[in-house]
This record gives sequence, C-alpha cells and structure tokens, in this order.
Amino acid sequence: MATTRLSVVICGGGIAGFATALLLREDHDVTILESSSLNEELGAAITFSMNASRLLRSSLMRAGFDKAKARYVEAEKFQELHWQDLSVLLEWKMEGITSKYGEPWWYFSRKDVHQELKRAALSPDGLGTLPQLVLGAHVERVDVENRTVFLKSGKSFQADVIVGADGIRSASGNSVFGKLTTETDGMSAYRCMIPSEKLKNNPETNVLVDCAKVLMFIGPDRRIVAYPCSSWDLMNFVCIYPDPRERKSQWSTKVTVEEMVATFKDFHPSVPAALSMATETGVWQLRDRNPLPTLVKDCFALIGDAAHAMGPHQGQGSCQAIEDAEALRIVLKGAIRDSIAERLKIFDQLRVQRVATVIQYTRNMAPKATISKEVNHKTTQTYSDYYWSYKITQEAVNIMQKHGFAMKLVDAATGEVSLV
Ligand SMILES: Cc1cc2nc3c(=O)[nH]c(=O)nc-3n(C[C@H](O)[C@H](O)[C@H](O)COP(=O)(O)OP(=O)(O)OC[C@H]3O[C@@H](n4cnc5c(N)ncnc54)[C@H](O)[C@@H]3O)c2cc1C
Repeated sequence: MATTRLSVVICGGGIAGFATALLLREDHDVTILESSSLNEELGAAITFSMNASRLLRSSLMRAGFDKAKARYVEAEKFQELHWQDLSVLLEWKMEGITSKYGEPWWYFSRKDVHQELKRAALSPDGLGTLPQLVLGAHVERVDVENRTVFLKSGKSFQADVIVGADGIRSASGNSVFGKLTTETDGMSAYRCMIPSEKLKNNPETNVLVDCAKVLMFIGPDRRIVAYPCSSWDLMNFVCIYPDPRERKSQWSTKVTVEEMVATFKDFHPSVPAALSMATETGVWQLRDRNPLPTLVKDCFALIGDAAHAMGPHQGQGSCQAIEDAEALRIVLKGAIRDSIAERLKIFDQLRVQRVATVIQYTRNMAPKATISKEVNHKTTQTYSDYYWSYKITQEAVNIMQKHGFAMKLVDAATGEVSLV
C-alpha cells in the first residue's frame, strides 16, 4: 500500500528523542534538534524493567538497537534490605520474574544506552531513511499552527509532526501548553559510580557484588539503590535523602564524596565503606511533573521527561519514554498529513492515563522525611504488575483498529506491524 513519509522534527536528543528517531525512521523522515554541542549523557545508570526490555528486544532491536553495544547487565536478583542489619525484606530471583513477564530486566549506564540508541538511530544501515541530527540547536518555541520549530539562533524548521522530547524544562512543551511546572517533595539523590572490582576486592563491600542484583537499602527516611552496569565494570549508587535546600539547578556537582558518606554514615558499614570509594559524586534534586491532562496539540506530541518527569523510586522514567516512542511509531504508521491530529489524539488516549498512574504510584513509593527510626516501607511489589505486564505494541495496534485504522501486529517478537 502506498504511504506518505511524513517529516518529523524531534526537539531534544536524549533517550526519549533517539528512541523515537530510531523507531520512526522506517516510515518517516526525521530531524533531531539538540541544544548541546556534545550531546552526552550524565554518568549515571538506568534500569530497563520488563515493560521496556520487551520493546528493546522487539521493535528497537528490529530497528538496529544492540544490547551488547549498550553494555547491558542482566539482572539475577532483586533485594530489598534493611538499612542497618541488611536483613532481607524482599527477594526475587529473576527466573521467576522473567518467566512471569516473558522478558529480562536489564541495567545500563545512561551514557552507554544513550550512545547506542544514537548510533542505531543515525546508522546508515538502519531502516528507512537516515535521520538528520542538528547539534547546538536550542529550541525556543514551537508554533503549532504553522508547524514550525523556532531556535534561539533565529533558524526555524517546519515539519508535519513535531515531538517535544526536550526534558523536564521543555521549551517546546512550555510554548505549546503554557508554563509546565515541576514539584519537589524535598528529596535529593547523590549519584556515583564505583568500579565493581574495587568493591569485590574489599571484604567489607564484596557482599554488595556477589551477583547481578538490584539492591535497595531501605531506611526510615533515606534509601539507596545500587546495581551494576557497563558490562559489570561499574556499580551505580543512587542515594536518596531529605534535602531542604533550595537548589537552583536540578543537577549539581558542587558536593563532595565526604558529604555523601556522612549523610549515610549510620547505614550498615558496607554502605559508607562502598560510598567512600567513589572519586566523584553529584546531587540531583528530585522533581516530578503533575500529570498533564493532554500530551498533544494538533501536530505536536510531548514525550519523555518533558511530558512526565518522575522520581527514580520505581525506575520507570526512561521505561515510560520508550513506551512513548513505541506508541508514536504505531499511531503514525501509514499516516497521511490530514490524519495526523486524529492519530495523535489516539496517542493521547494511550498515554495520558498510563503515565498519570505511573507518576502517582512513583509518588506513593517515595521515601518521606521522618524522625522515626522504624522502617515503614511499601515493597516494590505493590505496583510492579501494573508496570511490567504492559504490552504497548499490542495495546496501540488494538486502539488503532478500534478507531478504524487497518493494521495488524505481524510478529510480537519483532514488533513488526503491517497495514492491512
Ligand atoms: C536519580 C534518577 C534515577 C533514575 N533512574 C531511572 C531508572 O532506573 N530507570 C528509568 O527508566 N528511569 C530512571 N530515571 C529517569 C530517566 O533518567 C529519565 O526519565 C530519562 O533520562 C528521560 O529522558 P528524556 O530524553 O525524556 O530527557 P533528558 O534525558 O532530559 O533529555 C532531554 C534532551 O533534550 C535536550 N534539550 C533540553 N532543552 C532543549 C532545547 N531547548 N532545545 C533542544 N534540545 C534541548 C537536552 O540536552 C537532552 O539531550 C532516573 C532519573 C533520576 C533523576
């Protein structure tokens, strides 16, 4: 069937932007506008749980994503541990989870996974046409009526579809929907990476690295999440604590390893011993977005943190960004210009409720400032089925069919969809 290749401009080349470019290039001509000139990710890690690894293994792999190049580590275990005596509050062996959801749980460094999404999206061997990446392109505003993106430099780009993937401060989203605010609940997170070898070779810390596990140290008001990444070279630590400071920027490197260690000095001795091996750290003020009533307007769709920034407590931020990218691929499959607004409304139906629920669940799971020394925690299990059982590819095809668009999922293993 003859289809039209639409022109798509994506504002922002982060994980959401490149995942979308990679998935859309088969059917459409894509341009990515990225404000920074280097376009590098921060040295922190990310987990892709089953709702996202399902997509990495199907549609994204079919489009060229290579998990080995992204230096993945596959989870063997998940443990929630008491902060002081390391008693096990919850333990999952991953075989059970993998067989229940049919997918593995993967950990990556953000740098590695971003680099691989970008490599695959810009590979001359990929599906469809080669996207164009414009660096140093700072988006100032989007004019939806004229389907135009204006840069700070005065340059402009016209497109059939415009995607806002420019992160939590989203200039594109602010210009289309009015000022999009973020909320803080007074929590921040130190982040650091420590060579796994160092941890293995130290008798005080080798308990943390005996297998590929996500460790959550649960305290009354503080929490640490640790897991390996970068083919096991590094262990990533996210150390969440109450932080009443007014921080001007969300990410600050004006903190010391000593400060981080002091904040967690009353945790089990393996924890301060591990943290003191870090050579550098940064602090991230945790902010999220109140759920938005809509993520689209005419030819414009908002995705990733721009649409639904959320705390790290459930590891769903990037997973939701990957779901957004897949939803866009399906709703725009076979689109002609006149059907774009209608199709993006279907994207809205698919995404608004889902991301609002994930934001709310993530808030429910956040640690809270308290003077109590008792651990009062809800286990990760509370909402995991809602996150992990979700199959966006099938959901998107179903909803498109309900709206009268003829398409079918040819092969769930590759995510291939055909127009029938
Ligand atoms: C402490 C912490 C831990 C986390 N852990 C996890 C986890 O385990 N699992 C998980 O799934 N998620 C996790 N997340 C969330 C995850 O990091 C984000 O959801 C994800 O990186 C969002 O990607 P994005 O592309 O939407 O936004 P960003 O990564 O912010 O990318 C936006 C891009 O747009 C560019 N940009 C910004 N403004 C402009 C402009 N005006 N013009 C052009 N370009 C612009 C930026 O330079 C950047 O490249 C965590 C987050 C935090 C804070």
